[in-house]
Order: sequence, then structure tokens, then C-alpha cells
Amino acid sequence: MKIRSMIATAAAVLVTAVLASAPATAAETYTLRLAETWGPNFPIFGDTTKNMAAMAEKMSNGRLKIRIDSANKHKAPLGIFDMVKAGQYDMGHSASYYWKGKVPNTLFFTSMPFGMTATEQYAWFYFGDGMKLMKEVYEPHGLLSFPGGNTGVQMGGWFRKEIKSLDDLKGLKMRIPGFAGEVFSKVGVNPTNIAPGELYTALERGTIDATEWVGPALDLRLGFQQIADYYYTGWHEPATELQFLINEKSWNKLPKDLQEILRVAMRTAAYDMYIQSTDANAKAWATIQQDYPNVKVKTFPDDVIKAMYKANNELLAETAAGDPLARKIIDSQEKYMKDARAYTNISDRAYLNTMYELNKTQ
Ligand code: CA
Repeated sequence: MKIRSMIATAAAVLVTAVLASAPATAAETYTLRLAETWGPNFPIFGDTTKNMAAMAEKMSNGRLKIRIDSANKHKAPLGIFDMVKAGQYDMGHSASYYWKGKVPNTLFFTSMPFGMTATEQYAWFYFGDGMKLMKEVYEPHGLLSFPGGNTGVQMGGWFRKEIKSLDDLKGLKMRIPGFAGEVFSKVGVNPTNIAPGELYTALERGTIDATEWVGPALDLRLGFQQIADYYYTGWHEPATELQFLINEKSWNKLPKDLQEILRVAMRTAAYDMYIQSTDANAKAWATIQQDYPNVKVKTFPDDVIKAMYKANNELLAETAAGDPLARKIIDSQEKYMKDARAYTNISDRAYLNTMYELNKTQ
């Protein structure tokens, strides 16, 4: 009896061990549904979600699939935060600053006027406090947020008339959303937000006098170079970072290895978008220079830049005074940028200045 019982116990242990290591769970597949702000086949931004999904599927050997719905399908391009929070979708691809009216502190995780460059901002996200602070903002909503691709420095926009001084901005109607719109409004501009599909007509008919969008690659497609001669350099979105949003419950359902695969796929796709933007902007800018000699690149005059910088600092101070978490994020960004910029100045900036002067004299 005793021996038989021992054998039975041993057999039970063996069966348990076999079940625990059975490959049945390893073959289980997970499908996450992702809603993106962009329409179908939207270049660069839309390539990023497809790239991320393809990488996740390949790296997981088909165990992790991501199904993408573009805006034509879900009909709520600016409803991504709500849909992912409610669990209607597991994931989203959008931009954090779109949620500023809902959760004001989401504003800080896209790009700030007069803020960090893409390299500096990525360093802040991954080696500074960026990811930690973003978690603090999104966690109460049951959401995780990850960097989702960078546009690089955005252009300051297309103007039909040259801006020679601060007076030329008074009463100017311009499409410029977000914090930058508030800054512009403090220096006399009348900012509005218009959907991209209506921008060309609005500018052509004079409903607006100027518009910003992104940079040469995406601007060229909308045709602004045909109706506006002045293309201003940027100040308001020096490093626009898109965002992958994930419902925390959907994330927690994934096994640890698939979480890591998803994390790596998102991070790699974000980096890919940054360099794809550089490539596409360089090509589009060459096209604009060749085919549209009417386009002149301008930088805002000193008095305009100084007034906007002052207005930006006042707005940041008001925002920091009104909310302890906002203050913590603003302080973190300011301190990080100060140190990072001191190095950027003796490295990237010094090198580019050297090359610029050298090429001028060749
Ligand atoms: Ca923009």
C-alpha cells in the first residue's frame, strides 16, 4: 500500500510537472485592437503603427497580433484617449497634447514651445524623469503611455504676408493649436484649430491668414506652397512626439515576454518614425525648392521671438502655480533642458555652425 501510494504521488507530481511545462500556453495568441487618430494610409504617422504591428507579430512568431483601425473606421480621431480608457480599444496611436482639455498635464509629453529637441527629449524620457512623470499622469486613468514617433523640429507655418514686426501679428488669423496657440494669442494673433482636410481652402479663401501643420513632407501634400510664399522656421513644436496608449488591463493580460516584445516594437517604431521624418522632409524640401521658387524661408524677427518667449514663460508660470504635478513636470523639463542644452551647444550646434560657415566660404 505504502509503495503504491508513493508511486501514485510520484505520478501525480510528474503529471503536474508535465502540465506546468506544457507548450499549450506558449502557443496561445493575443490580438490587440488599436485605434489611430490618422486616416487610412496616412504617410509617416500611419506607417509607424503598421511598422510596430509587423515587428510585434514577427518577434512573437505570430503570438501577438495588432489590428489597426484608422479614423475612417472608428470615426473618432480625437476620441482615442476615451476609447482606450473605456476598453473599446486595447491600444491607441495619437498625440498626448490632444488630451489637454480633458487631463491638462498630458500637454507636456508631446513637445513644448521653446522646449527640448528630439534627442534631448528622448534622453529626458528614457534617462531622465520623463517616463516616470508620464506614468504619474496616465496611471489614474488606467492607461499606459509610450513615446510613439517624432516629427523632429516642426516648421513655424505658412504665411501669405511677410511678418516684419510684432505689429504684423496683430489680428492675424492662424491655425495653430495647443499651448503654442495660447502663446500666439498673447501676442495678438487670433488662433484657431481647423481640420487638416479644410486647411488649404481656408488659407486660399482668406478664412485664415496663416497655418502651421508639420514640416515639408506632410505640408507639401496639402499644397500650401501654391498659395503662401513665406515658410517660417519653427519655435513652437521643436520635437513633436506621438504616443502609443495602452489600456492597463489589456497590458496586464499579456504574458511577460509579449509585454517586452510590444515595448521593444513601440520603441523601435518610434525611432524609425524620427529618421523616416528626416528622410521624407529632406526629399520634400528639395522638391519645394526646385518646383516652387516663390517659397521663401524666413525666421520670425527678434521682437516677435522675444515677445513669444516672454508670453510662453508667463503661461508656464501660471500653469505651474495652479497644479503641483504640473509644476513638477515643468521643473523637471526645465532643469533637464538646461543641462542637456549646454552640451548640445558645444556639440551639435558648434558642429553645425562650423559646417555652415565653411560651406558659405566654399
Ligand atoms: Ca503642428
